[in-house]
Amino acid sequence: MGTVGAVARDRHGNLAAATSTGGMTNKRYSRIGDSPIIGAGTFADNTTCAISCTGSGEYFMRAVAAYDVACLMEYRGLSLAEACRIVVHDKLAPVGGEGGLIAVDGAGNLALPFNSSGMYRGTFTSESPLFTAIYEDK
Ligand code: ASP
Repeated sequence: MGTVGAVARDRHGNLAAATSTGGMTNKRYSRIGDSPIIGAGTFADNTTCAISCTGSGEYFMRAVAAYDVACLMEYRGLSLAEACRIVVHDKLAPVGGEGGLIAVDGAGNLALPFNSSGMYRGTFTSESPLFTAIYEDK
């Protein structure tokens, strides 16, 4: 039930992303959200990052949010964390795009930003133990 997104980096630096969702509560019949749309809710490219989004999909589609993170990295040379922060907090939040994303880059850096009150999330790497959280990190 709900959104299940995953991003992964293998030992060779290959990146992958996947997003599954039931959509928004009370959505219109036949609505298609951002989750299956490459570049909007899901994106992966070995040269930049892998992204999986959750939230009000109409805004993630308008912002082409997942691809925008990759573009900020590729064209402006930003770090994964800074690119994610700009998309989630500076671009999506002001127009009502509530939600967040999970991200990993080719070096294995992770980012899990959200502008909603919480986001169910977890990480696991070869160097760090399982981490899970819902609300803001303390
Ligand atoms: N982003 C999804 C949609 O708009 C909802 C979600 O699973 O977060 O359909």
